[in-house]
Amino acid sequence: MAKQLDYHTIREIFTRFQAAEAEPKGELDHVNAYTLVVAVALSAQATDAGVNKATKELFKIADTPEKMLALGEEGVIEHIKTIGLYRNKAKNVIKLSRILVEHYGGEVPNSRAALESLPGVGRKTANVVLNMWWGHPSQAVDTHIFRFGNRSGVCPGKDVVAVERAIEDHIPVDFQHHAHHWMILHGRYTCVARKPKCAACLIRDLCQFEDKTE
Ligand code: SF4
Repeated sequence: MAKQLDYHTIREIFTRFQAAEAEPKGELDHVNAYTLVVAVALSAQATDAGVNKATKELFKIADTPEKMLALGEEGVIEHIKTIGLYRNKAKNVIKLSRILVEHYGGEVPNSRAALESLPGVGRKTANVVLNMWWGHPSQAVDTHIFRFGNRSGVCPGKDVVAVERAIEDHIPVDFQHHAHHWMILHGRYTCVARKPKCAACLIRDLCQFEDKTE
């Protein structure tokens, strides 16, 4: 784990990310808050591309909890069976849709506690929804952010909650909203797991990682 970078270095890192991509976007397709919740819940241990392929037709038929309930668990399975853990995920999608209809008038609640009470929705999913849909600077730490944060020293931490805190504590407020997507995209395409592309990395000179590749 690298040591925590200082304020000026972190500000420079995010200034460069911003110059390269002013409006970074997530890669999970969705058409409203509800389909975002479903897409993120389906994405556990699956790639965004794999989830998008499965939800393309599903969301045409079922873009509200009411329509998802009408489709039923077997109908959901038919659409998502290319995704890992699909049986369990289909069960959760139906359960969470029922709760949304019965307790929230078919709307997606916008508090972390309410989101996390939905089946199949954990801290990460809640943070993604709060950040992407509601514009809240909440930080969902996935495997890409965890790796990048610990290598670079932008937000080191021994577990995801520690990394989440490091992001909140150290990333300047004006970069907090987009920090999530800048770091995910950097981790996914440049600071990749097995052989990071350090030679092409725009923050190579600021990164603390000791085993940079050539
Ligand atoms: S220099 Fe290498 S290790 Fe550091 S952030 Fe860039 S790709 Fe990752």
